Amino acid sequence: MEINYKCPKCKSYLNIGSKIVLSAKVDDQQKGLLMFSNELGNYEVKKHDLVQYKKGQKVGFYCPICHSNLAAEDLNLNLVKVIMEEGGKECTVLFSNIAGEHATYKLHGKKYEAYGKDKDKYINFLGF
Ligand SMILES: [Zn+2]
Repeated sequence: MEINYKCPKCKSYLNIGSKIVLSAKVDDQQKGLLMFSNELGNYEVKKHDLVQYKKGQKVGFYCPICHSNLAAEDLNLNLVKVIMEEGGKECTVLFSNIAGEHATYKLHGKKYEAYGKDKDKYINFLGF
């Protein structure tokens, strides 16, 4: 099934095939593009060598097209929110923006799926 990711603000597609591209900012200084797998729970990230962050450091994520801050303001500022489109249906995907924290959530209707070793950390913030 084809999976696409979209910006919740401008609805532009954020993926190229199976890779998601997001704009990232660390410490208000380092800026660059980060590339993720579209597979939930896969935390491999490709980035420019000069964009560096340490474990526990917060990374700001932005839409590369409209530059909106993708932090999930309504839930928890440590979570990033994007739209996932799978088989014509839309759901919300949230993931932690703290480097080294592996927590990803897929929200659809009244259900959620959680991924990653730190998945328990934000379950209380999902609004269920
Ligand atoms: Zn956008």
